[in-house]
Amino acid sequence: MLYNNDIDIAPILARKVAVIGYGSQGRAQALNLRDSGVDVTVGLRPKSPGREQAAADGVAVADVVEAVAAADVVAMLIPDEAQPAVYRSIEPSLREGATLVFAHGFNIYYGRIEPRADLDVVMAAPFGIGEKVRSLYEAGGGTAGMVAVDADASGHALSIALGFAKALGLGHGGVIETTFKEETETDLFAEQAVLCGGLTHLITAAYETLVGAGYAPEIAYFSCLHEVKLMADVIHTEGIARMRESISSTAAFGDATRGPRVINEQSRREMAAMLDEIRDGRFAEEQAREMAAGGPVLAEYRREAAGHSIEKVGRPLREAMKNED
Ligand code: NDP
Ligand code: MG
Repeated sequence: MLYNNDIDIAPILARKVAVIGYGSQGRAQALNLRDSGVDVTVGLRPKSPGREQAAADGVAVADVVEAVAAADVVAMLIPDEAQPAVYRSIEPSLREGATLVFAHGFNIYYGRIEPRADLDVVMAAPFGIGEKVRSLYEAGGGTAGMVAVDADASGHALSIALGFAKALGLGHGGVIETTFKEETETDLFAEQAVLCGGLTHLITAAYETLVGAGYAPEIAYFSCLHEVKLMADVIHTEGIARMRESISSTAAFGDATRGPRVINEQSRREMAAMLDEIRDGRFAEEQAREMAAGGPVLAEYRREAAGHSIEKVGRPLREAMKNED
């Protein structure tokens, strides 16, 4: 891990930065860069609602191509699926020897963007949503994060990436050097197996099991969904072993003897198969077909999720608990 004292911010202070996009990461990163003393301009479409927000935040805004043409470093902070077309539209305007910065390796690793040979291609990826990247920085800290270099045409790519990461505040949380391959594969796998796919399906299946057996949906909601945050917070701050020390011995015995039946040999085989599909490109191809077709699978999946009883039961409960805060 590299921390603030190990990283020189000078390479990024010496360069003009364009941040393309003013969404979750774009806003947080543009503001952190600016407050770290970096010369930053946000590039947005003519009618983007982000323009008003950026102006209110006191950040310079320009059209995408204009911002890119004036920059030494261009950070691609728009949705991953929008990046290939935007890259094609800005490529002619990118300065000779400029640096492209990504917050996720997907498009470079799967070849959806093939940058010009004179460009440096790097990653500065915070471990955290944009809101966190900004709020920790404002509090004098920062999230941890990763840097990687995919192309080093200038010979300075790593020092530019590190300077950029330090200006984002990542030197407070710590910076790990990785590769586009490792970041992309681990990020996709973690969101599929744990953070999104695994967690939501685990909660929903357990809830359905209780409700199907005749238990009150509200009680199923509290026990299988609401309490996840309490356990996740303990795991996050203390680790799994300490969490197991802090629960009752009845809970610990159930964990030890029943947990392996939920995540069993078949689940592990499926995890290995999912990782294979990520590594050999099958997942990315499947996702590209879905996007090209206008996202029918995702639309149906979201529609189903919104109509699930766990939502109908959870909404008023969450509303009521908000009022208590
Ligand atoms: P957002 O969805 O928040 O980006 C929205 C912004 O992108 C808006 O300003 C929008 O402008 C702009 N935008 C969208 N399409 C275009 C386009 N075609 N041309 C110009 N601007 C466009 O993105 P995220 O911040 O979620 O993600 C950005 C990158 O960061 C991705 O690579 C993602 O993987 C990575 N990342 C994201 C994290 C997160 O916290 N969300 C965490 C770590 C990495 P408009 O108003 O005009 O639509
Ligand atoms: Mg991800």
